[in-house]
Amino acid sequence: MKIAIYPGSFDPITNGHLDIIERASVIFDKLIVSVAANAEKGSPLFTREERENMIKETVAHLPCVEVDSFSGLMVDHAIHHGAVAAIRGLRALSDFEFEFKMALMNRSLKEEISTLFLMPHAKYTHVSSSMVREAASLGGAVTEYVPAHVDSALKEKYSHG
Ligand code: ADP
Repeated sequence: MKIAIYPGSFDPITNGHLDIIERASVIFDKLIVSVAANAEKGSPLFTREERENMIKETVAHLPCVEVDSFSGLMVDHAIHHGAVAAIRGLRALSDFEFEFKMALMNRSLKEEISTLFLMPHAKYTHVSSSMVREAASLGGAVTEYVPAHVDSALKEKYSHG
């Protein structure tokens, strides 16, 4: 049984993330989408629980996908699940340097976890959670870029804020 982990902030999950999840789920027997609880990127818009629940709803059609969260080292969480690989998405050249350094750091922490990069469909290469949050906060339509329930959750968040 080949297991992979897909770690990230997912604040919130987008159709770009879903594209990567769908691609990875045909390569691995089990894929664990793990919300990083480390507050390295400042305070998230959605709580860890909200982010997990939004991912669960998004992947409900994929039986081999599980959702959880972690704090601490991603590679330790991967080993805990018996994973052999960490999935990361590459959108544009701009992702490359950061991802390259992180992959090498993670490899030096745990040699047995390989980082596997997947590219999304071209229509998602410009989509990021931060752009989606920014557009939604200004009242822009992001229906093309996120699942319908995430779109509703964004509207709900910003209607109070
Ligand atoms: P981070 O880990 O930097 O917080 P995210 O949580 O947004 O990033 O995303 C997790 C992973 O998904 C990263 O590898 C990121 O490059 C990738 N990703 C994010 N958005 C997309 C997209 N639109 N298409 C493909 N991959 C993406």
